[in-house]
Amino acid sequence: MPIGSGCPRFSKRRHGNRLLIPEPPMSKKRLKFLRAAKFESQSGRCFYCDLPMWLRCPSELGLRPRSAAPFQCTAEHLVAKQDGGKDAANNVVAAHACCNHRRHKRPGPAPSPESFRALVQRRVMSGKWWTSLPPGIARAPL
Ligand SMILES: [Zn+2]
Repeated sequence: MPIGSGCPRFSKRRHGNRLLIPEPPMSKKRLKFLRAAKFESQSGRCFYCDLPMWLRCPSELGLRPRSAAPFQCTAEHLVAKQDGGKDAANNVVAAHACCNHRRHKRPGPAPSPESFRALVQRRVMSGKWWTSLPPGIARAPL
C-alpha cells in the first residue's frame, strides 16, 4: 500500500463524521458549565428553596451519598426544554435535584418558576417542603 493512500482518507472521513454529531456532547458540556456558573452566582443555594446544594461531591455539605441525591445541584430550565426552552444563561438556574423534579412531576403543565418558587418558599417556612433535613444542610447558616 503506498504511503498515505488509505489513512488520510479514513481520518478525513472520521473527521467529517465527528462534525455531524457534536450537538449532544457540546450541549451537555454547556449545561454543565451553566450549572456551575449559576451555582456560583446563587452562592450555592437552590433557586426554589434557598437551601444549600452540593455541586461535585456530597461531602461539600457533609452529606453521606445515601441521603445526598435530593440535594445535588442540577440545571433547571425555567422554560422547559420540551416547551422550547434553551440551554442559555437566561433560561437556566441552579436548583436541587429534588426541587427541580417536584416542579416537573406535578400533574399538568409545570407551574411558572415564579409561582413554583413562591409555593416552595411557603412550604419551607411551614416545614412542609423538606420533611427531614440532614444535619449538613440544617446547620448551614442562611
Ligand atoms: Zn431546593
